[in-house]
Amino acid sequence: MLRYLTVPVTPYQQNCSLLWCDQTMKTAVLDPGGDLERVLAQVARAGLVLDQIWLTHGHIDHAGGAAELALRFGLPIIGPHQADQFLIDGLALQGKMFGFAHVQTFTPTRWLNDGDTVKLGHSTLTVRHCPGHTPGHVVFYSSEANRAFVGDVLFAGSIGRTDLPQGDHDTLIASITQRLWPMGNDTVFVPGHGPESTFGIERRSNPYVRDT
Ligand SMILES: [Zn+2]
Ligand SMILES: [Zn+2]
Repeated sequence: MLRYLTVPVTPYQQNCSLLWCDQTMKTAVLDPGGDLERVLAQVARAGLVLDQIWLTHGHIDHAGGAAELALRFGLPIIGPHQADQFLIDGLALQGKMFGFAHVQTFTPTRWLNDGDTVKLGHSTLTVRHCPGHTPGHVVFYSSEANRAFVGDVLFAGSIGRTDLPQGDHDTLIASITQRLWPMGNDTVFVPGHGPESTFGIERRSNPYVRDT
């Protein structure tokens, strides 16, 4: 069974999630934006075995700690979609602009495409490409756990910003309605910032994307 816990990191309170297979304890760190010692304390406390790094997109609060974590533990970096390469290439510059110290760029071990799967011990998750907030944003979906890890695509009561480089509002709305809603109203999503919600609640009440 897939399990997870979420650790808010960076001044942006970005939800870094630890996902693991409870039979093997193999663990993926999703969006290690920074504050790695806080993340690693949770890894130790829960007895997790670091196995992979997964990225939803290339913004610094999500990807800023990926290179250091990969280097320290010899982990592969999986994701996002290659359309976010310009953001990853610019991480050192993003670090200077937003006051993050010593952020390194990297080349992901594997870029992800829509419909890909990622494996963690005995669990398999599906990848959906959900551009709009950034062009290479991906989402990780576990039908087994009934959870979607959606980064900055959708929030409880809001949606991702589209005023950043290569953001696009109509593309984001299409990603949400065509690629997230089919995961089902009961699916709980873990956003990149703030509390969890379900797609059904957002379809009823989110002013940006509710059903008309
Ligand atoms: Zn973002
Ligand atoms: Zn974010």
